[in-house]
Amino acid sequence: MGVLPTLFKVARRGKCLLLLVLCLCVLAWIAAISSDDVVKESPFEDLKAIEESPRRELESEMIPSVEEQTLKESCPERSPLLRGALKLTFEASVTLEQVESENQEVVGGQYNPADCVARQSVAILIPYRNREKHLLYFLYHLHPFLQRQQLHYAIYVIHQAGDVTFNRAKLLNVGYLEALKDYNWDCFIFHDVDLIPENDENLYVCEEQPKHLVVGRNSTGYKLRYKGYFGGVSGMTKDQFHLVNGFPNTYWGWGGEDDDLRIRIQLQRMTIVRPPAEVARYTMVFHKRDSGNQVNKDRMLLLRRTPQTWKKDGLNSCSYNILSVNREPLYINITADIGQPEHAH
Ligand code: UDP
Ligand code: MN
Repeated sequence: MGVLPTLFKVARRGKCLLLLVLCLCVLAWIAAISSDDVVKESPFEDLKAIEESPRRELESEMIPSVEEQTLKESCPERSPLLRGALKLTFEASVTLEQVESENQEVVGGQYNPADCVARQSVAILIPYRNREKHLLYFLYHLHPFLQRQQLHYAIYVIHQAGDVTFNRAKLLNVGYLEALKDYNWDCFIFHDVDLIPENDENLYVCEEQPKHLVVGRNSTGYKLRYKGYFGGVSGMTKDQFHLVNGFPNTYWGWGGEDDDLRIRIQLQRMTIVRPPAEVARYTMVFHKRDSGNQVNKDRMLLLRRTPQTWKKDGLNSCSYNILSVNREPLYINITADIGQPEHAH
């Protein structure tokens, strides 16, 4: 073979190679652009910014420092302080001052075990309006209960300002977003104010899957209300709740919002776990249906649309105004203006 043709061949191969490299570059560029698009389209972009925003200065020294974390041992898997089934009392004479004086280790609504590092940091979120006596009973029972479980926890009361129709789900979204400004909580427990756990083996920690803590309550003969019921008290990790875009904001009045959350969970192929029935028992403090929380007649319609709406109705679209954040001794009171139903019926 002559020198010239060989050179020519090499040059041609070189060109091919060049072309190939060029093609690869173009492909890589296209991939980069399209992945950019995906990120931009993600409904959770703004949400991430909120979740990762700098923490508000917590007023107490309850948060363990890095040194503390390394010096102290992790709390045991099973707390030695648990007592099992409890005898609950509801004394009409109980006062806030009394409950405060019995819980002096709680500072600004927050508690951290003194002798060991808690296995989880848990934010208890309570949707709230006008249930003063219930809140008092809640604080009276829940503080000692949570302390026996050796948890690092805080109780957040999310108070709906004004007297437009109540919106439990939106208040819980507000609670999640606001609590994350305080601390990077592992676990969120969404908790009706009137439900008191009857057994301290019902652990207020999160699991691999979303957890429903109320199998039975006195008012329903301690039976699960219906298969798939996810109301009353439920627990999700920060990531689980983020993944489903939180609760819907569009359920005004009583009912449906807990089923919507269950559908969101199922759409993400997660499953709901529950403690054994003999443990997951609650007493509901008796009450009538509140004025301002009438049955939501649209709930069945809304529930049918959840697969289409969940991505745009949730944490990423939750708009509200914080009117005040008060760090009371036994809870953090967040008063929020959460607006009103878009279409008045
Ligand atoms: N809630 C409240 N004020 C109201 C209505 C509801 O604080 O006016 C909160 C409270 O935490 C309550 C929860 O929303 O436990 C659920 O409402 P409700 O107790 O009426 O539901 P149900 O008893 O039917 O489960
Ligand atoms: Mn109730």
